[in-house]
Amino acid sequence: MRIGVLALQGDVREHAAALERIGAEPVLVRSPADLDAVAALIIPGGESTTMGKLADRYGLIEPLRGRIAGGMPVLGTCAGMILLATGTTSPVHQHQLGVLDVIVERNAFGRQVESFEVALDVKGFDEPMWGVFIRAPRVADVGAGVDVLAEIDGRPVMVRQGAIVATSFHPELTGDDRLHTLILQMAGES
Ligand code: GLN
Repeated sequence: MRIGVLALQGDVREHAAALERIGAEPVLVRSPADLDAVAALIIPGGESTTMGKLADRYGLIEPLRGRIAGGMPVLGTCAGMILLATGTTSPVHQHQLGVLDVIVERNAFGRQVESFEVALDVKGFDEPMWGVFIRAPRVADVGAGVDVLAEIDGRPVMVRQGAIVATSFHPELTGDDRLHTLILQMAGES
């Protein structure tokens, strides 16, 4: 199955490699036509302001909103979570898709040198998931339809709303492909 990776900026290759490991066909998405050709999408980590600007420049904001509103499964990791969200705690505007009903606090765990790793208990998973946090966002506020799947100190770091799954951390860096597999399964069912 063809699964897209939004390939404007960020750790695109690591997600493409994870998709290959689970037998999906990764497609690098840089245009609305690319988006039309995929059954699900991964939005990688990177820098969310840059990614948002490029998505706007390439005419991808409305097509992304349309596909996601239409039920296309999406996994957003770190900057990808920020792009999916409705807002941030900062007053500075940045392009966001506004399809995931959460407000995120960017760089909530500190700077690059304060990056850390931790085992996370994830709702619905038998084994903990290893979370790599790199200048990670934290969910500051969740809407009613959002399910919190994992948290640190009572703050959500993994959420799901329908076919949208978002993590503050980087599952593509650990070889644990359970979230990529979940997205592939959802794509098969939709
Ligand atoms: N700090 C980045 C941002 O705000 C996200 C970091 C990441 O994706 N690893 O966009």
